[in-house]
Amino acid sequence: MNYLSTRGHPDRKRFCEILLEGLAPDGGLYLPETYPQVDAATLAKWRELPYAELAFEILSLYIDDIPAADLKAICAKTYTAEVFGTDEIVPLRELEDGVYIEALSNGPTLAFKDMAMQLLGNLFEYELARRGAELNILGATSGDTGSAAEYAMRGKKGVRVFMTSPDGRMSPFQQAQMFSLQDENIHNIAITGVFDDCQDIVKAVSNDLGFKRKYRIGTVNSINWARLLAQVVYYFAGYFQATASNDKPVSFTVPSGNFGNVCAGHVARMMGLPIQTLVVATNENDVLDEFFRTGIYRVRGAADTHETSSPSMDISKASNFERFVFDLVGRDAAKLRKLFVEDLGLEGRFDLSADPAFKQAAERFGFKSSRSTHADRLATIRDTEKRFATLVDPHTADGLKAAREFLAPGVPMVVLETALPIKFAATIVEALGHEPDRPAKFEGIEALPKRVVKLPADAEAVKAYIAQNCD
Ligand SMILES: *Cc1c(COP(=O)(O)O)cnc(C)c1O
Repeated sequence: MNYLSTRGHPDRKRFCEILLEGLAPDGGLYLPETYPQVDAATLAKWRELPYAELAFEILSLYIDDIPAADLKAICAKTYTAEVFGTDEIVPLRELEDGVYIEALSNGPTLAFKDMAMQLLGNLFEYELARRGAELNILGATSGDTGSAAEYAMRGKKGVRVFMTSPDGRMSPFQQAQMFSLQDENIHNIAITGVFDDCQDIVKAVSNDLGFKRKYRIGTVNSINWARLLAQVVYYFAGYFQATASNDKPVSFTVPSGNFGNVCAGHVARMMGLPIQTLVVATNENDVLDEFFRTGIYRVRGAADTHETSSPSMDISKASNFERFVFDLVGRDAAKLRKLFVEDLGLEGRFDLSADPAFKQAAERFGFKSSRSTHADRLATIRDTEKRFATLVDPHTADGLKAAREFLAPGVPMVVLETALPIKFAATIVEALGHEPDRPAKFEGIEALPKRVVKLPADAEAVKAYIAQNCD
């Protein structure tokens, strides 16, 4: 399998070459040249497989530069009941007739990002050892990415993590999860600014090719193809749990921010998994909902980016969206460049409303969208507890609200549970008047000593810190 850049760079790369990279050299995102097709017989075979073996089968279609036995061992080591809490890894539960919740958040940091990051940690360690190389991971997080990356990489040989986060904008629990890690190879950097400042710093540092090479800078943010690929697996696993046979369609609703999670659903659908609808659920930061409703993609400024009670979806632009738009415009790299380089670069927006391609988003690719507010979130959390004695976190609540707008008779609707309520206790208390249950291993975590430095929103300051801590 070869990988190309959405912006038309002529080079083709293999999986392990892009594993340790972020953006393509032309600023585009990597995608496979084609989506492998899965037929009914293969689906029938996969239906019987435990999660780790299913992951191996799917990953094998995209990774041909790791020996099969090694890849199989990596999957087996990653997706265990010990790490993810159950043999199913992503158990599905029925909430009400036709509406299911797929639990993606039973990993070490209680959010779905563990699903991909735990695999990435093992892939990185494997590939770095094979090359005799080292890597410094630079990341930006508004919450879950950072802790998932740190828990995946802590103590791993050949890897250091430098994780930027917007100072004071994460929940106390999330801060405690990250900042309490005392591992030598984990560096927390609190940036005076918002999440997008952090993302811009990561981009600026990565664009300094001299620095990037000298300090072997890599990334694990959501544009990393391996992460997206790992996420494809749970769409298959959710499908198999929601159906008894492969002639039934299923729909998914995905609480969305950077469009990484739902883009994995798009890939699964392109491979032939019978997904009817992919519902993109946003919060007040509704860049994506606006696009799917109107055809206009309009990046928000910092002042227009709201701090909400589903903070892991607080984005001003969706960094994986370019992957989907590439497919939407028929993989026409020149057209893609016009939209993402010229239009977005000059005007901060592009407009596909009059383009025939826009209609395809719904008709051919199955996308729908919706938006929630803080009040919706509280109402959904209350309603779900009252009627079903189930607690959902604010992001999953955004998903549930959106899902109910697109139910179709006979088509199971699977809502992806992207975090556990304990990570967002303040909002749960506001909705319900009581604290969510806390798993025993997180008792007292906020009181632990913290390991973090504070830096201004300045790429040079971050570079200096990295240089200092690399020898
Ligand atoms: C990251 C995250 C999201 C958004 O996922 P994207 O892949 O960025 O769309 C939603 N919910 C939670 C809890 C998250 O951590």
